[in-house]
Amino acid sequence: MSGGLRIERRGVMLILSSPSGAGKTTLAERILAKDDHVFLSISATTRPPRPGEVHGKDYYFVSQEEFFRMRDAGQFLEWAFVFGNYYATPRADVFAMLLKGEDVLFDIDWQGAQQLDAVAGGDVVKVFILPPSRAELERRLRNRAQDPEEVVRARMAKADAEMSHWAEYDYVIVNYDLDESEEMIRSILMAERLRRRRQTGLASIVKEMMRE
Ligand code: 5GP
Repeated sequence: MSGGLRIERRGVMLILSSPSGAGKTTLAERILAKDDHVFLSISATTRPPRPGEVHGKDYYFVSQEEFFRMRDAGQFLEWAFVFGNYYATPRADVFAMLLKGEDVLFDIDWQGAQQLDAVAGGDVVKVFILPPSRAELERRLRNRAQDPEEVVRARMAKADAEMSHWAEYDYVIVNYDLDESEEMIRSILMAERLRRRRQTGLASIVKEMMRE
C-alpha cells in the first residue's frame, strides 16, 4: 500500500474494536504484515499469556503492581478493566510516530476507544468489527479452545455489552469474509490518510504549483 504516501502527512490512530472472536486480531495482523507504515500499539495487560503469545509482541505482560505503578507514573494513554484483567495503551511514542507520518493501530475495547477519542480525537479513526451472526461468534470462541469454558461463557455474555457500542464508531464492518474485511479496512485507512488535514505537506506543494 504505497499510493498516497508521497506527500508528508500526519499518521492515523486506527482503532479496531469488536467482541472477542469477531476476527479483529487476524485482521489487524494482516494489515500489519502488508503495510510498512502501520505499527501496532502493544498494550500492557495483567492477563496471563495464552499459549503462543509473546511478551513485547502480543502484549507487555505485567503484574498488577507493575500495572498500577506504570499507570500512576502517567505512562498510559488510556486504561480499562476488561473481563477481569487490566489493559492499557502505553503512551510511549504514539505521537512521535504520527508526526513521522506513520500510522498506529490499536486493538482495544470500547472503553479505550472512548478515552483515546477524548485525548486525541483529531487523530483517531474508530472501526468496529461485528461477527456475521451470534451463532458464528459462539462457534469461533469455542474453536479457539484455549480459554476455560467459564471464560467462553463470560465472553459470550459480554458480547452484547461490547456490541452495544457499535454506534460510537466511525466505521462498522460485518466480518463475513476475512479477505473482504481486510480490503475494507485498507480502504478506510487509505481514505483517512488522504484527508486534507492529515496531508501536512500539501500546502507547500500546492503553493509551488500555483507560483505563476
Ligand atoms: P484479549 O484478552 O482477548 O487479548 O483482549 C480482551 C479485550 O481487551 C479485547 O477486546 C481487546 O481489544 C481489549 N484490549 C486489549 N488491549 C487493550 C488496551 O490497551 N486497552 C483497552 N481499553 N482494551 C484493550
